Amino acid sequence: MQFTDLKTQYTALKADIDARIQRVLDHGQYIMGPEVKEMEQALAARTGAAHCVAVASGTEALLIALMAIGLKPGDEVITTPFTFAATAEVIVLLGGKPVYVDIQPDTCNIDAALIEAKVTPRTRAIMPVSLYGQVADMDAINAIAARHNLVVIEDAAQSFGATYQGKQSCNVSTIAATSFFPSKPLGCYGDGGALFTIDAALAQAMREIRVHGQSGRYHHTRVGVGGRMDTLQCAVILGKLPRFSWELERRQALAARYSRLILASGAPVQLLAVRPDRDCVWAQYTVMVDNRPAVQAALQAAGVPTAVHYPKSLHHQPAYAADCCPDCNPHSIAAGQRVLSLPMSADLTEADQDRVVAALAQACATAMATA
Ligand SMILES: *Cc1c(COP(=O)(O)O)cnc(C)c1O
Repeated sequence: MQFTDLKTQYTALKADIDARIQRVLDHGQYIMGPEVKEMEQALAARTGAAHCVAVASGTEALLIALMAIGLKPGDEVITTPFTFAATAEVIVLLGGKPVYVDIQPDTCNIDAALIEAKVTPRTRAIMPVSLYGQVADMDAINAIAARHNLVVIEDAAQSFGATYQGKQSCNVSTIAATSFFPSKPLGCYGDGGALFTIDAALAQAMREIRVHGQSGRYHHTRVGVGGRMDTLQCAVILGKLPRFSWELERRQALAARYSRLILASGAPVQLLAVRPDRDCVWAQYTVMVDNRPAVQAALQAAGVPTAVHYPKSLHHQPAYAADCCPDCNPHSIAAGQRVLSLPMSADLTEADQDRVVAALAQACATAMATA
């Protein structure tokens, strides 16, 4: 059993993906070829966002977003400490300061009710993460941003395809950044990412920053990066798009089935909450357990691969600790000790899923006996 099954997906899409890759090899425009714009248009149409800019990765997307809003050294960005390091990394890289706000213990997304108390005159932006594929409380976050003249940047690396009050993730804030890392819900065959915005001037700034700050060939009007997405990777995304809606349905059906089976098993496992006005694309199917090391070891012994997203709150990571007190963000600390991600992909079979849940129940029993 694989943690993420990308082979079955490729087998299903082989003819289309191979043909699209071959087309790029034939025309030879490996950098900024026609597939880049074609993908940007397809993703803008799918999300409803006015502008899409393809970039080299999800991390690069977050970095370019902060460069586009002109983040300066000393500026503060409010974000969650319970995320992949890249979210805080790009803030620190530009000399900014991540200001952490704890998560809601049942969704693991940033607790919007705690944000406003952290706004200072130096705050420039709020960067919520739509963790595991569920959009954060964007209505509340956008309202706070409007009151204090801040920009909201959704880290949508895990949530492409998710909906929030009928709108698509990547189109629920001024800027959004997603990732096409192979194991994300929509992944390419290498690194890739995209920015989305409703603002034409920001879109133009992002396009320029993507190519070394050029507003015209060899005319550098601002400092940029080498942040383009390869034509070949855009071709892979285009090849995967026709199956994507089916894959999302499949992920949601499998997640619902996981939850039913786990509840029926009676295992001492806490499921994540999904708010009624949105859905989750289950970039990870993550649960919470006590004595996780023992549960994970027992699952591994039973041949069930698992992962931990993420073991340590960023305010405990030496590189990203900012000046936060160690005891801050207690829900984030607790989640880091309890979360466990189970195998998930659109092509996970129900038979394998049955095995995972049976092994999980057994692993919890073993862990409790040894605790
Ligand atoms: C994957 C991920 C990123 C980084 O994306 P890359 O394409 O790997 O650079 C950023 N934030 C979150 C929440 C992620 O899950």
